[in-house]
Amino acid sequence: MSSHDYDVAIIGSGPSGIGAATALSEAGIKGIVVFERETEIGGIPRHTHHPSFGLLVFKRPISGPKYIQALRKRCQSVRFETRTTVTTLRKDGYMEIATPKGVKTIRAKHIILATGARETPRHGRLTSGLRPQGITTTGALQQFIYGANMAPFSHPAIVGTELVSFSALWTLRSAGIRPAAMIEESSRITAYRPAALFARLLRVPIYYNSKITQIDGIEKARGLEIEIADGRHETISCDGVIFSGKFVGDNNVARASHLTLNPTTELPLVDQNWVSSDPDISVIGNAVHPADMGDHCYIEGLSAGKTVAEILRDGIEDYEVVEITHDAGIKLAAPSIVRLKRQEETKINISFHVNAPYSGNVTVKLGDEIVHQTSKRCRPARRITLKNVPITEAKGRDKCPIHVSLADI
Ligand SMILES: Cc1cc2nc3c(=O)[nH]c(=O)nc-3n(C[C@H](O)[C@H](O)[C@H](O)COP(=O)(O)OP(=O)(O)OC[C@H]3O[C@@H](n4cnc5c(N)ncnc54)[C@H](O)[C@@H]3O)c2cc1C
Repeated sequence: MSSHDYDVAIIGSGPSGIGAATALSEAGIKGIVVFERETEIGGIPRHTHHPSFGLLVFKRPISGPKYIQALRKRCQSVRFETRTTVTTLRKDGYMEIATPKGVKTIRAKHIILATGARETPRHGRLTSGLRPQGITTTGALQQFIYGANMAPFSHPAIVGTELVSFSALWTLRSAGIRPAAMIEESSRITAYRPAALFARLLRVPIYYNSKITQIDGIEKARGLEIEIADGRHETISCDGVIFSGKFVGDNNVARASHLTLNPTTELPLVDQNWVSSDPDISVIGNAVHPADMGDHCYIEGLSAGKTVAEILRDGIEDYEVVEITHDAGIKLAAPSIVRLKRQEETKINISFHVNAPYSGNVTVKLGDEIVHQTSKRCRPARRITLKNVPITEAKGRDKCPIHVSLADI
């Protein structure tokens, strides 16, 4: 072999990492390795046992563990190394890994970061009160209930109404637990509206326009204080609190590296092919757009893997980098930069979520010129994709960024 240990090293074995490994192996790339810090591969779906994965990829709903098994079959020749944490990323494809046998430095021609996202736990939300037991996130709850067959409480409250909050509700239901309440800061749920019916069916009240002011309890949680928008205060009796959603990219490795990050979101910048500011490193899946459905991440991994195979074969063409900016009402957008080929029009897809419901035109401008406009019905839970937006080098040359806006211009 050359001075490289691998052609491609993928960090993270969730749906996006497996997708990339599959496309690379289908493209004939041989030296692929997937590093996974846990003892089992699969990322989040490995502990999400209800049938809520696979509608796009397998055209039927299946449980997280079965979903991962089925995806793994598509890349059987790829080597996965579990209990291996990537601790440091450096230029020129070098990385440090911590394995059960010790720390090693290895080198790959291309690295794909697929490290996923995590929910914001209590300390990240600055919720006051003491530190009783029974405070958790949906991911940790699923590891208790589905993984260890243990229920840490009998009537917890769920904070948030994102899709994952209803995943928490489903997980509790499978253990025979009816939560005391769901708490939502705005006047409607963040997930698709029918999800609220699920809560109603299970007789779980949703407190809208409500903010937690304190968690009560010394050793074990015994209640939540909430403040409602009209100024009223209420106490909800509960023996646990599940902080769900408010995802942040699990990007500690990227943050400590030479990669350029978006100063506001602290997510690594990626181009239309998921290549970061370092052309030898791609970043995919929830690590760059926390958080999308498993199928979206898998499909994205496939597309990124295909591109990396092309880069290994042909190299990256000469390009110019143009930044993508967006209105404050847009939560997250990918790509965040565009690599434009010289003298050619480049067509890109731009995906994003919104902070609050919006119906109307979504406009993409390059400087003063509108290059794409389409009417969209946007909901926070829905991933919106603008397809084939045409960008040309000449227009990008005056350093004007590409701007995505929610406005009838
Ligand atoms: C609690 C919860 C429930 C969900 N429920 C659903 C659902 O029902 N249906 C659905 O479609 N989507 C669901 N989602 C979203 C879905 O699971 C994710 O979109 C999908 O798993 C993201 O895939 P990923 O590959 O980007 O990241 P992940 O699945 O998060 O995988 C990332 C992997 O990288 C590994 N890793 C991270 N850092 C390192 C490192 N430094 N070294 C080595 N390995 C590392 C992690 O251990 C992990 O295995 C849920 C998400 C959560 C949090």
